[in-house]
Parts: sequence; C-alpha cells; structure tokens
Amino acid sequence: MQKIGFKKLTLTLIGLMGLQALPSLADNQPELLWLGQAGYRIKTTTNQNIIIDPWILGGPKAPAEFKKDLSALGKIDLVLVTHAHVDHLGDSVAIAKLNNVKMYGPADMITPLVTLGEIPAELTHRFNKSGTQSPIPGIKVTPVKAEHSSLIVWKNPTTNKLESHPAGEPVGYIIELENGFKIWHMGDTGLFGDMKFIGEYYKPDLVMIPIGGNFTTGPVDAAFAIKNWIKPKMVLPMHYNSNPMAKGTFAEFAEAMKGSSVKVLQMTEGQIMAIPKE
Ligand SMILES: [Zn+2]
Repeated sequence: MQKIGFKKLTLTLIGLMGLQALPSLADNQPELLWLGQAGYRIKTTTNQNIIIDPWILGGPKAPAEFKKDLSALGKIDLVLVTHAHVDHLGDSVAIAKLNNVKMYGPADMITPLVTLGEIPAELTHRFNKSGTQSPIPGIKVTPVKAEHSSLIVWKNPTTNKLESHPAGEPVGYIIELENGFKIWHMGDTGLFGDMKFIGEYYKPDLVMIPIGGNFTTGPVDAAFAIKNWIKPKMVLPMHYNSNPMAKGTFAEFAEAMKGSSVKVLQMTEGQIMAIPKE
C-alpha cells in the first residue's frame, strides 16, 4: 500500500470535503449537550447526533435558543425515549418529524402513540428490554430495566379533554458508541438490585443517573448504586434542578460519592461537554 504523507492526505481531504468538513481530533470526541432534566444530545465519534428524552418547549431549564426553534439542535439522526412521562417524551415526536428520523422507544409506549395518531408508524421503532438494535451506523442501543412507571396523558381533539393511556414499562438505555464506549442513560428509576447485574453485564463507562428524588433515586440512593454495585469509570447525575418536588442536588450527590474512585461529572443546562476518555 502506498504511504501518503499527513500533509498530502490533509490537503486531499480538504479538496474532497471542503475546509469546513475537515475532520479534526476534536470532531472525533463524543460530546454531551444537557437540555435539562434527563434530556441530552449525544454527539458520537462520527458526528451523528442522538437525542434522548428531550423536554424542551415545556422544559423549565431547556436552553432558550432551542425553545425558539427545535431545528437549532442541528441535524438529529436518532431519537430515543425512555418512557412516556411528559418530561421525557417531551418534544421527541416533533424532533423525529422535523428530522424525518425514527423515534425508538419501549414497544408499548410507541403503539398507543401510533394508534392515537400522534406519530406515523414509519417514524417509529418498537423494541424492548435486551433487544439490542443498531439504529444508525456504528451505534448499538439496548433497552434495560428501569424501576419506574409510564403513562401517556393525551388531549382528545374530539372531546378536548385529557385522557390517560397506559404506555408499557419504562426503560433505560445502554448506548454503545462507534469506539465501544458505553453510556448507560438510566431514564427515570428507583433503586433496584439488578442495577448491579446490568453494570456487570454491560460494563458501562459512563452512567447517567437520576438524583432528584421523589420520582426517582435521590442523591444518597444514586451514590449507593454507583459506588457499591455499578462502579463505572464516570457518573453524571441528571433529573434534578427542574421540578420543585425533585429536590436532590449535585452537592448532595457529590458528598455522598466521597471516597469513591468513580469520576463525578457535572454539567449545567445548555452546556456542551466533551466526554472524558477516562
Ligand atoms: Zn418519569
């Protein structure tokens, strides 16, 4: 094979792709953007954008630029939803339609959304726990157990009244990036013993865990699971600072994590953070 010098290769790439699109080291670095609550945009190592649980138009901490215009999120390649509660389903349907991409979610949440006419079936993918899929090139997504509930609250356009519809069981997701890096987004969950099993089986590098309490684990429960059961390389607390009933704070979580070698990451809403390598 002929060796091509770096400079020549770079110039060739500039010629082929245009200066703007030239990949840099930074471009290969996966990134998170926190949209508030459990909502994130994950940029993968090949610059694909996954959005999970985006609660933007109604989300009190979602960045204003996205509230004004969902297309400001950029091109989204995959929409993931953990369950039907409004702070998770949020603007998922609108974003899937806007980008003409599929929304993946628990099968029994997707079905009623389709039968109620909220989203066309062809923009959805129904799957369930352990059903690993590769929705976009190089990415694997596996739904896993979450100890929570799920319900669709839907306004019937004929009666103009709110109705509650069962929405199956909630899930968390193991998201494996192109380079093998694994993120476990837990969705909403309480403490459950199989967190240990999921940690041992999937070996997530980064765990995103709810700490708000009331609806989910609080700071102490979350730290217990991370320190004693899951032991990932790093943890990012989520699902706090958006609902007055979910009072858990980052400071309480950091305090409860003291003495652990797990790296505790912190983000503010609207921040973009490169996911650390270690
Ligand atoms: Zn919920």
